[in-house]
Amino acid sequence: MLESLKKMFSGNEGDMPVNTGSKPDISREKSKELYEKAKTYFPGGVNSPVRAFKSVYGTPLFIQKGDGCFVWDADGNQFIDFCGSWGPLILGHNPAKVREKVTEVMQNGMSFGAPTALENELAEIIIKNNKHVEKIRFTSSGTEAVMSAIRLARGYTRRDKILKFEGCYHGHSDSLLVKAGSGLVTFGETSSLGVPKSFAEETIVIPLNDTEALTQAFAQFKDQLAAVIIEGIPANNGLLIQDEAYIEFLQKICKENGTLLIFDEVITGFRLGFEGAAGYYNAKPDIVTYGKILGGGLPVGMYGASSEIMGHISPDGGVYQAGTLSGNPVAMAAGIAQLTELLRSGFYKELNSKAKEFAEGIQRFATARNYKFKVFHVGSIFWFAFTDKDKIQCAEDIDPASMEKFKVMHRELLNRGIYLGPSGYEVGFVSAAHTKIELEKAKRAILEALDIVFRNK
Ligand SMILES: *Cc1c(COP(=O)(O)O)cnc(C)c1O
Repeated sequence: MLESLKKMFSGNEGDMPVNTGSKPDISREKSKELYEKAKTYFPGGVNSPVRAFKSVYGTPLFIQKGDGCFVWDADGNQFIDFCGSWGPLILGHNPAKVREKVTEVMQNGMSFGAPTALENELAEIIIKNNKHVEKIRFTSSGTEAVMSAIRLARGYTRRDKILKFEGCYHGHSDSLLVKAGSGLVTFGETSSLGVPKSFAEETIVIPLNDTEALTQAFAQFKDQLAAVIIEGIPANNGLLIQDEAYIEFLQKICKENGTLLIFDEVITGFRLGFEGAAGYYNAKPDIVTYGKILGGGLPVGMYGASSEIMGHISPDGGVYQAGTLSGNPVAMAAGIAQLTELLRSGFYKELNSKAKEFAEGIQRFATARNYKFKVFHVGSIFWFAFTDKDKIQCAEDIDPASMEKFKVMHRELLNRGIYLGPSGYEVGFVSAAHTKIELEKAKRAILEALDIVFRNK
C-alpha cells in the first residue's frame, strides 16, 4: 500500500502491451463496463487507490463473489486468491462460522452507540491470549488505531515528535504520510498533497535495519521523541524481515530514552499468532495496533497497551479518542467468530507449514533455473521479489526496475486463474482455505509465469 502512494498518479490504465505469453488474456468486458461507470462516481474509479491496477496491466477486476480460497469476477472468471482482501481473510472468503455468527447477531439490530456484551467477549479473547496488552480500545480501521496510538504516545510522554521507518506503512493519517528526505536521519517530507509541512516535520524518517541511523536519530532528538513506530514485520513495501538483534536494539534505545515503542501489527497481528510480530521476536512493545484479521472482513481496528498507559485515554485520561461505530456489534461478532477459529490447536502450525512448502517449492524451481527471483516468507505471508539478493531488509534494497517483471507475472497469473494484489510491492497471503491441491495448482501456474517472465518458454 505504500509504494502505491507514489504510483497512484502514474501509469496508463488499460494499457496492455501485446500478449506474448502462452495463454490468451481473460475477458474483462463486464469489469471494464463497471469500471467506466465507477470512474464517473469515484476518483480513479475506486475507493482505495491500490485497487486501480495502476502498477499492473489492464483495468481492475470487479469482484462478484468469494468462497474459500476462490474469487470470481464480474465476467465469471475464477481465481485462486492470494490477496485475501489485503490480509483480513485468514480463513478464506465467506467462512461459514463467521457468516453464521454475523447473521445471528444482525437479527438484533446493527448499531446502538452503547456498550454491548460482544465487545467484552472479543476483548477477552484478545487480552487472554496476548501478554502485551492489558487494556484495549476498538476503532473502525487500522488507520484510526495507529493515529490514536500516536496521540496516546504523545499524550503519555508529553513529547511531540515521532520516528518512523522508510518502507513502513501505517495508514493514511497526516503524521504518517511522510517519506525520507535525502540523508540518513531526516525530517519527513510529505508523501501526499494536503499534509501540512509542519506536521511532517514532527515525524523523523530513517531507514530500516540500520542501528547507526537509529543511534544518530536518538542523539539528535533525544528528549523530543514520543514514540518509534515500526511494522513488527514490515509487509507493505515488500516483506522486509528485520534481524532479531535490530529489534532488540530498538527496544533498548527506546527504553533508555523514555520513548514508547509502537508495534503496528495491523498485518502481522493474528497472522503470526495472537501476539503477532512481538511474539515472533519475543519483543515487548509499549503500544500495539491491530486491524485487518481482527475484524473477520468487517471494519475493526484496535490499539492496546498496559493498563497504566491506556489509563491516559478518555474518559479515564486526557487523550481524547472516540468513534460512533467503534465496537460495532456486527463487526465484533465477525471478530469473535474468526479469532475463535484461530485459537483451535494447531491452526497456525498447519497454515504456516502449508505456506512454507508453497514458498519453498517455488524457490527451488527458480533457483534451479538461475532466475533472479526470491520468495521471501514468514508464517503465511509471502513476497515475490525479482532479485538475486538473499535478504531485503530496507526499502532502498528494492530495485524499482524489477517491478516491470512483476507486471508481466501478474498478467500471466490472471490468465492462469491466480489473483495476486495488483502491485509487486505487495505481499500475498495463504489462508486456511487454500488446500494443498489449490496450492499445487497455483505453484504450477507461478512456475509457468516465471518461465515466461524470464523468456524461457
Ligand atoms: C493496512 C494497514 C494499516 C491501515 O489499516 P486500514 O484498515 O487500511 O486503515 C496500518 N498499518 C499497517 C501495518 C497496515 O498494513
